[in-house]
Amino acid sequence: NEEIIVMKNIMVTGGSGFIGSNFVNFLIEKGCNVINLDKLTYAGNEQNNHHLLSNDRYKFICGDINDEDLVREILRDNNIDCLVNFAAESHVDNSINTPEEFLKTNIMGTFKLLQEALIHSKRYKDFRFLHVSTDEVYGSLKLNDLPFSESNKYSPNSPYSASKASSDHLVRAWHKTFGLNVITTNCSNNYGPKQNPEKLIPLTIINAINAKKIPLYGDGSNIRDWLYVVDHCEGIYKCMLRGKTGEVYNIGGDNEKTNKYIVNKICSILDDVLPVKKNKNMPKNMNSYSELIENVKDRPGHDFRYSIDTSKIREQLKWEPAETFETGILKTINWYIENFDRFKDSSLD
Ligand code: NAD
Repeated sequence: NEEIIVMKNIMVTGGSGFIGSNFVNFLIEKGCNVINLDKLTYAGNEQNNHHLLSNDRYKFICGDINDEDLVREILRDNNIDCLVNFAAESHVDNSINTPEEFLKTNIMGTFKLLQEALIHSKRYKDFRFLHVSTDEVYGSLKLNDLPFSESNKYSPNSPYSASKASSDHLVRAWHKTFGLNVITTNCSNNYGPKQNPEKLIPLTIINAINAKKIPLYGDGSNIRDWLYVVDHCEGIYKCMLRGKTGEVYNIGGDNEKTNKYIVNKICSILDDVLPVKKNKNMPKNMNSYSELIENVKDRPGHDFRYSIDTSKIREQLKWEPAETFETGILKTINWYIENFDRFKDSSLD
């Protein structure tokens, strides 16, 4: 396969987190050699890659993207063709409470990676830097606004999205000023196996199974576009192989749902696949997981709606999602049920 020869040795940062570990797995299945640099913060878990530990095409290095000597060494010693940057602080609520770590990793960390990438690119002419970012950099939409396109102005509202927006600008500048071969992807909300239980979908599944309250911000009317994580991996892979240097690609599921819909949908699937009466955690007087849903005080600065125009990646790179929300959410719920032991103590009260 011609494409794989060009991009054989891939350095992934943040490859022990949710999307990164799914992407590592995706690359291994495609025949690549993968080096994963991850600091293993609370959000990273090498258990996500435990099935690869005996695979000689996978190597894990525990370290920080801010450690430039380490990054330089990894790039040089492994003849890296592409660096895919997932490493980030990623939870909006944490960015409101403790923003500094977001600036250190998301902004300074990306800067350090870009500097080392530039050095490496002098020896490896086809080397590429792929930066994984979020649709949250574009800000918030009203109900009838058009979806975000790649030319949308940046308008980040949370410390998280502001830090990601900064990193996107750095990536752009290192291309425009220094000629680094870069691509940026901006994707909507991902869901699927291996996501940290702090996020809406795994939190809902785990709290429901544990018969704990399921918190729903405000009245639950906020809208997100949801994409199954493996479809995101496929989109990143296509950008890595065939994207045009210096370009930005939006990736999304064309699947806008209110948070209220998501939470109720999960409860109704759980009612089928793990009936309340067979779940010994559930009080006898409850008939549906939806009875656990509780509206809680809204997040400050909570963006109302995200929506993604995916026509560029669909037309130029022939990408489209394989999963519908119905198939993807069922796979996700089944994965959390099968791996429940790992998460049984992760409910948030
Ligand atoms: P995650 O929080 O699950 O994983 C982040 C990983 O980065 C963890 O394994 C963590 O240990 C590692 N990490 C953090 N700081 C590091 C550092 N300084 N050095 C090395 N490793 C470090 O996040 P995720 O949901 O998998 O998101 C991955 C990337 O994708 C992020 O950049 C995020 O902004 C972006 N993104 C996420 C979503 C989503 O819905 N989850 C959507 C669009 C874009």
